[in-house]
Amino acid sequence: TDKEAVCVGVRLRPFVAYEQGQQQCLTISGNVVHVDPNVAEQSQKAKVSEFAFDCAMDSTDPDAPDYVSQDRCYDLMAKRMVDHVLGGYFSCLFCYGQTGTGKTTTIMGKVEPVSKQGLLLRLMNDLFSEMTALQDEGLEVHCKVQMLEVYNEKVRDLLVPMNGNSKDGKSRHHPEVHVHPKLGVYVKGVADEPVDSFENCVQLIEYGNTMKTVAATAMNAKSSRAHTIFKLMVEKRGGSDNTIVTSEAFFVDLAGRENEKTTKVSGERLVELTFINQSLMWLASCIQALAKPETRKSMVPGAGTGNLMSRFRNSKLTLLLSNALSGNSKTSMIGTLSPALANFEESYSTLTFASTVKNIKIKAKPASAVDK
Ligand code: ADP
Repeated sequence: TDKEAVCVGVRLRPFVAYEQGQQQCLTISGNVVHVDPNVAEQSQKAKVSEFAFDCAMDSTDPDAPDYVSQDRCYDLMAKRMVDHVLGGYFSCLFCYGQTGTGKTTTIMGKVEPVSKQGLLLRLMNDLFSEMTALQDEGLEVHCKVQMLEVYNEKVRDLLVPMNGNSKDGKSRHHPEVHVHPKLGVYVKGVADEPVDSFENCVQLIEYGNTMKTVAATAMNAKSSRAHTIFKLMVEKRGGSDNTIVTSEAFFVDLAGRENEKTTKVSGERLVELTFINQSLMWLASCIQALAKPETRKSMVPGAGTGNLMSRFRNSKLTLLLSNALSGNSKTSMIGTLSPALANFEESYSTLTFASTVKNIKIKAKPASAVDK
């Protein structure tokens, strides 16, 4: 998979307390997700009963031989990002799915015990040990992070206090996204926080998560209606040729898409949903272009003008991520799923969305060939 520019996976979480006793509507074998045939038959929506991905992760039963733990999930989906970050590449990892299906568990998890740490924490851990090794070899390595939220097409800096201002006295709550003809996209007025240890990084993430909840409560909104972006910037200099290598990695907890027709909403809520759905649609279109070799060539990083940039300009999310959704970057997407029947329609939407991003054809089984 390392040669793959775009890697799409899904992760099926275990039943949680409030789902006890429900029928399991999805199962996984190999890299394929199967919809229970009876469920598929009764559903208006389910037109497909099997979905194939680069990686289908079954986390329903810790005792099963194919169980995908946090550690295994990291190996499958995120470990490759360590090399990308230190090698000067741009990379992104997205989690997409209905609220309550495991996005936060997958990206963050718990700090303790270590076995519960999510992908971002594991990446930071590996990265800091690699960075220490490089520093011991005499290289200069710096790491900075940002944490942003996109809500209703507005960008918010999650690392500054709600009513506080930056050191220079200017408000940094609503940073502006700019497009520079040569430098590409950059965000003005956002906190670049230097981090030098895993603990340091965890503190910032926890602070950012608190700010997310505070901001959502103040706006009377749900934090799940916003996209949360964690951005990691690494600069490495030195070595025999004294070169400077910079890279950026993004971890994105995407807001869940909902069906506007079936969800009867109006006013503010409709505005929210429209922004979410549109930004996800544009994101899907950018990743689709990356996944195809013929369009991938045209996704040039820092392309400030013209046709190409218009693909990113459609939404703040794609604009913010445009450098990382271009050219040589590596992208991973994880669709998170509940196994329970009550969530079937939502899970089906997630499966459809994930397969839109990268369509993998399932080889038709030559069933009759054996019988003859
Ligand atoms: P989201 O961020 O999508 O809203 P959460 O990560 O908060 O979802 O998960 C919802 C619930 O499911 C939590 O109680 C969490 O502990 C549980 N859960 C999610 N993923 C897993 C997993 N892989 N293994 C065990 N429990 C999980």
